[in-house]
Amino acid sequence: MDCLFCKIIDHSIKSNIIYEDETLLAFDDIRPQAPQHKLIIPKRHIETINELTEDDANLVGQMVLTAKQIAKDLGIDQDGFRLVFNCNRHGGQEVYHIHLHLLGGRQMHWPPG
Ligand code: AMP
Ligand code: ZN
Repeated sequence: MDCLFCKIIDHSIKSNIIYEDETLLAFDDIRPQAPQHKLIIPKRHIETINELTEDDANLVGQMVLTAKQIAKDLGIDQDGFRLVFNCNRHGGQEVYHIHLHLLGGRQMHWPPG
């Protein structure tokens, strides 16, 4: 499958992996938008948030809990951080394999633009 993140999962494209288990992978974003910018992805290819079903509730929960743990390990949990899912064109999605952005290490602004 011609999917960048599937290639990161099967190691045919290199990335700096910071967490891996049976269902999830987390790695450094290649163009960090904050001092800490990680991506948490499911190993199963799911194109967008629109494709999620009730059966994926646990998977999405695991993604958020993993992000929480990574934030803690990075020491940014108390200052705070931001979790973002971009969906489709208006959401600014560039890679069509769902991913949770974990951003931190600086003050975030609102509205996000
Ligand atoms: P999105 O715009 O939500 O689809 O985010 C895609 C993210 O993937 C962007 O933040 C990119 O910087 C990041 N990205 C693209 N290619 C790579 C790569 N090879 N390794 C790590 N992150 C990547
Ligand atoms: Zn994929």
